[in-house]
Amino acid sequence: MYRNKCAACYRQFNRMEHLVEHMRTSFHSGHEPSCGICGKHCRSFESLREHLIGPLPKQECRDVFAYQGCRFCLKVFDSPNARRVHQERCQLSGLDAGLIARFANLGLRDNLSMGRGQQVVALACKMVGGGSDGSLDLCARVCIIDEQENIIFHSYVKPPIPVTNYRYETTGIRPEYLRDAMPTRVVLRKIQDFLCNGEPMWKIRPRAGGKARILVGHGLDHDLESLQIEYRPEMLRDTAKYPPLMKTSKLSNSLKYLTQAYLGYDIQTGIQDPYEDCVATMRLYMRMRSQAHRIEDYPLASDPQNRNNFVSWRQSDLERMTPEQMLEISRSDYYCWCLDSYI
Ligand SMILES: [Zn+2]
Ligand SMILES: [Zn+2]
Ligand SMILES: [Zn+2]
Ligand SMILES: [Zn+2]
Repeated sequence: MYRNKCAACYRQFNRMEHLVEHMRTSFHSGHEPSCGICGKHCRSFESLREHLIGPLPKQECRDVFAYQGCRFCLKVFDSPNARRVHQERCQLSGLDAGLIARFANLGLRDNLSMGRGQQVVALACKMVGGGSDGSLDLCARVCIIDEQENIIFHSYVKPPIPVTNYRYETTGIRPEYLRDAMPTRVVLRKIQDFLCNGEPMWKIRPRAGGKARILVGHGLDHDLESLQIEYRPEMLRDTAKYPPLMKTSKLSNSLKYLTQAYLGYDIQTGIQDPYEDCVATMRLYMRMRSQAHRIEDYPLASDPQNRNNFVSWRQSDLERMTPEQMLEISRSDYYCWCLDSYI
């Protein structure tokens, strides 16, 4: 019989010292996605989905989930009826195609005004091609929205070097749209000032009363680089790099996949508008932020105050603990977005 079973992922070990070693390196916490039926912690929603839906699901959990589980957020409800009522709200619908088409030449906003307090905004770009083979990504459209999906900024951008491929089939961008568009250096200054919101860059970090804005997006490094924007990594919420939303292989999922799997609708079907990507990333962010997780004083293993990350404990003390006690002192190695609801 195995007695040394991890209280989070239920892996079993022959020897207590192996379980201790496992706990030191796995950073289990209440912020991990977990099965609503057996309580098993998973590294990502994708591995939780596999645990519940298959190809090789845990049988008991699959049977309950089939009748009472929401296939978008993976929560489990008391009855099939409660599930049905929930799932109708959990599945969102996409944006009106006519609305998106109108953005191609109308409704541009470029003044970037918004309330003063710290707020969350989502940014997305659409890229055209530069360089001799057109493979260099250049931002030609950028959109920023607020938490309520209102457009704060939506503009064409004139790249600093010549465009060699407009990628019309997906971007819908024609040369004349960019001819008199705002140059990248102007856009970059406007957006950077808007994000910092009056705070000096070196002072910016997520905290109560801070004025700088939290920036949501998908593949933000690439978007910011193409606009030459510098911003504090602590303020980025990237759906491509957030561990619970990544593949079990630790690679990024596409935004198209995440929107289909977690929100239940299709995006990027024809000509793409950055507004649609902004809305999808903001909705994913809101869903992750609204998760009800236990509140801890120092939730991160990397918090300097945190003595609970196994480093300060003696091996012999750890080996005397129960698996539950070890889970109790274990902390997350990533910043869970539920923590944003306290700032
Ligand atoms: Zn484990
Ligand atoms: Zn959390
Ligand atoms: Zn389970
Ligand atoms: Zn749901």
